[in-house]
Amino acid sequence: MRIFCIGRNYAEHIAELQNERPTDPVIFTKPDSAILRENNPFYLPDFTEDVHHELEIVLKINKLGKNIPVQFADNYYEEIALGIDFTARDVQARQKAKGLPWEIAKGFDGSAPISKFVSKSQFPDFPKLNFDLTINGEVRQQGDTTMMLWSFGEIIAYLSKFFTLKIGDLIYTGTPAGVGQVNIGDRLVGRLEGQEMFNFEIK
Ligand code: MG
Repeated sequence: MRIFCIGRNYAEHIAELQNERPTDPVIFTKPDSAILRENNPFYLPDFTEDVHHELEIVLKINKLGKNIPVQFADNYYEEIALGIDFTARDVQARQKAKGLPWEIAKGFDGSAPISKFVSKSQFPDFPKLNFDLTINGEVRQQGDTTMMLWSFGEIIAYLSKFFTLKIGDLIYTGTPAGVGQVNIGDRLVGRLEGQEMFNFEIK
């Protein structure tokens, strides 16, 4: 199983990090050791002072595919989840400044919490989805998939030009605005269309 992630897929998040608006999707990957399931707590690692939450909708690939045409791409996943793309923002800033890869800032152990999966067919307005993250009861991120620069289908079509997508691969589809630091004792709750999907603590 691989974990693919899309960077800079929501315009307001690009603005808050003062990034350039990309002409193609920004792709990176995390190793499978990054996955954190079943509401297990996230332990802040000691190599960073600034771990940021990035709330994202996650797709689970259910069919083998290469060079998938965009008009068929929505047939390549059936279940979706909510996840967090935890990012060591201080480490990432140092790597970016040197022009080096982001892996250690993005792919460390536990950096990809994932909720239970639910069928996309349960959402009548799919692919239009609202999702939000509360920390200690306060809403910090609110997303609406209509604000994505690249749709789920466009992401799958683009990724599959470079990588054969395999059953079970996960795709983190980018974060809306509102990213920020997490601290010991914080409780993170993610909701998709009002339904609680994950609920875990920072330790
Ligand atoms: Mg992200």
